[in-house]
Amino acid sequence: MTAAPRTDKMDVGRPTGDGLGLFRTGDAVALDLSDVDIPVDTTGLSADDRARARVITSAIRQRSQELRREHPVLRHQDALGLAAFAVAVLGFAGSGALYLTGVLPWYVTLLLSAAFAAVGHEVEHDLIHALYFRRHRAVRYGLLFGVWAIRPYTINPVFRIRLHLRHHAYSGLPDDIEEVSITNGKPWGVVRLYSLLDPYVPALVRIVTTKPKDAEDALWRRTILKASVGLTPVAISIWYAFLGLHVAGWLGASVPHGLLHALTVLTVVWVGPNVWRGFCLHFISSNMHYQGDVEQGNVLQQTQVFNRWYLMPFQVFCLNFGSTHPIHHFYVADPCYVRQLMERDIHPVLAANGVRFNDMGTFARANRYGAP
Ligand SMILES: [Zn+2]
Ligand SMILES: [Zn+2]
Repeated sequence: MTAAPRTDKMDVGRPTGDGLGLFRTGDAVALDLSDVDIPVDTTGLSADDRARARVITSAIRQRSQELRREHPVLRHQDALGLAAFAVAVLGFAGSGALYLTGVLPWYVTLLLSAAFAAVGHEVEHDLIHALYFRRHRAVRYGLLFGVWAIRPYTINPVFRIRLHLRHHAYSGLPDDIEEVSITNGKPWGVVRLYSLLDPYVPALVRIVTTKPKDAEDALWRRTILKASVGLTPVAISIWYAFLGLHVAGWLGASVPHGLLHALTVLTVVWVGPNVWRGFCLHFISSNMHYQGDVEQGNVLQQTQVFNRWYLMPFQVFCLNFGSTHPIHHFYVADPCYVRQLMERDIHPVLAANGVRFNDMGTFARANRYGAP
């Protein structure tokens, strides 16, 4: 009789009874999710790595509790989530309105809206972990679709819930569809670079022009197609029609002026900010997560702190993701702004316990944790 794999549950606070579930692919991990806990198979980990991960997690939990004592406003998590949602949506819409009324030039609106959409992305991630309106699922889903409306160049948030929980369960393994889909683990080249800007069209081209290699690849294909239903194809159509008509115009073709104007407006106020925001997030995320040779369940190997000063132009549009996301891998129960508040205190703990900082060799290793 084989022993059941050892699974540790990531600490996500109180359960919700949502029954979200992950995709099943026949792995040994027991994915019996009756709430948003994330069971992770940690069978193969050394005692030393387990101990280091525990030290980090308890330091984060302790700092989280201290912050709530020092700043009682942090206890009003639902209200803060709603405020962040309002900032994202109103900021995005306001920036677009100022372009339409001639107050802001296109490039200011593009960058400003990208920053507000980045707030929306963090709100979505917090909602995926049920950190706001934990007992009000309808409100959470309403907010999820609200932040999708300002980020149309992304997948359906309902599908992202499963993909993202899977990311935590299998981080750094080929089964981590979310990261693999944004180029993590691929060798650098024109395709990887372009896929950072637009992960969808290269993925769709691959799905249409090749056959599945194995069961994992077939699952990835089905997932991409299902998760794209909704705003994603609308955004893709606007973006490529905008590019295509502009190129045609430059080449001297006769282009309908009204259509070109409409596409330009939609690109500046809606789609374009998300193309740039997506590039920044994908660039940071796909280089701060390791991929391909990470030990199952070893949080110490899943990410690095990726926060060199020259990454700042990208970090601005993903809310310092490279610096704070490693904290999230150890402890998912805190919203984005709490991670930001504890960053300075927790980084030394991460460093002292073996989490890498600014490992730029990851570019040459195509995200492998170990030597090529
Ligand atoms: Zn997460
Ligand atoms: Zn991650």
